[in-house]
Amino acid sequence: MQATPAEHVFPSPMGLTHEEFVRESVGRGLREGVALEVYKRFFREGPTQFPGLIPQPTRTLVTDSPEGDVTKFLLSVPARRDGEPSLETESVVIPMQRRHMNTKTLCVSSQVGCAMGCTFCETAQMGLIRSLSAAEIVRQWYAARHVLKHEIKNIVFMGMGEPLDNYDEVIRAIRVLTDHSGPSIGMGCITISTVGRIDGLLKLREQASQPGWKSLNLAVSINAPNDAIRDTIMPINRSMPLGELIPILESWPRRKSGAICVEYVLIPGVNSSVEHAAEIAERFRKVRCCVNVIPYNPRRDSPWPPPTEEEVWAFLRELEARGQFCKRRRTKGRDSMAACGQLGNEGIRKRKFVGVTVQSGPAARA
Ligand code: SF4
Repeated sequence: MQATPAEHVFPSPMGLTHEEFVRESVGRGLREGVALEVYKRFFREGPTQFPGLIPQPTRTLVTDSPEGDVTKFLLSVPARRDGEPSLETESVVIPMQRRHMNTKTLCVSSQVGCAMGCTFCETAQMGLIRSLSAAEIVRQWYAARHVLKHEIKNIVFMGMGEPLDNYDEVIRAIRVLTDHSGPSIGMGCITISTVGRIDGLLKLREQASQPGWKSLNLAVSINAPNDAIRDTIMPINRSMPLGELIPILESWPRRKSGAICVEYVLIPGVNSSVEHAAEIAERFRKVRCCVNVIPYNPRRDSPWPPPTEEEVWAFLRELEARGQFCKRRRTKGRDSMAACGQLGNEGIRKRKFVGVTVQSGPAARA
């Protein structure tokens, strides 16, 4: 007699921690020990018992970089309502070389599109279409690990979307990704990258003080030395300016290893002078951080070119001269629009443009 696939009796494990999965299974009259075994096998061995949950990439693009192949892949996400177009998440597997070790980092999307409207970003051109559920976020890891067969060490929330705009589902996804009976990714191998939403950062600061969460990494997109410039390239700054953001970063819970990553997309003629570097070093003096300088990747129809090598090195030298720890991020995947700020499906972008809105005022800070 053929065994019944587990998917007909158990709940979908994709967005559940092992405790939740076991509890729900027991509620359906199933045995606790069997449920735990099913959960472990699903995440460790692949979806053999849940064939309906296999995430099949609709498109995969591979480009090479000095460290190895960069793989961008798209997964379709089902429509939630009748008449809603089918959508796609975009994720990128990026090879990394650290201390003579080759590892792979998965960049995941937390939303389809994004409402933050950063002017240098491809995704912003789409507007926000919808936020992803925890299961839809975890599914991106699942596809990378069990369908495309990449060993993923690190996960960064740097794909499409502002993770703190989808706070609850992102935190839930991290609980699943770090579950020791599930994907078992180390908390210290996960990074949340945000534009600096004050409301979300206050909640995340609380969360990052909890046992088990202290090694979660934080990256904040700053991209400008002052409000005058930041206002023009990051609309969020008009309601949540640097003067409110920096004190939160100064009070971020300390950890033994790892500083906050201050991301700085270097855009020629906008934020790239040595005076800007000096201003950044001064403003972030009290924040335990590393400034990660990212040469701008021109998005489609971009008004700016990428910076020259001289501009990038002059900026880094000035930061260093002023005692600011800094790094240059190498651009990987530029050819397949898989580099930083370049995720965003052109088809969807043309089909639907949702106006950019940034919550402000008390409601946004609740
Ligand atoms: S840079 Fe990030 S936050 Fe800004 S629009 Fe793009 S995806 Fe959104």
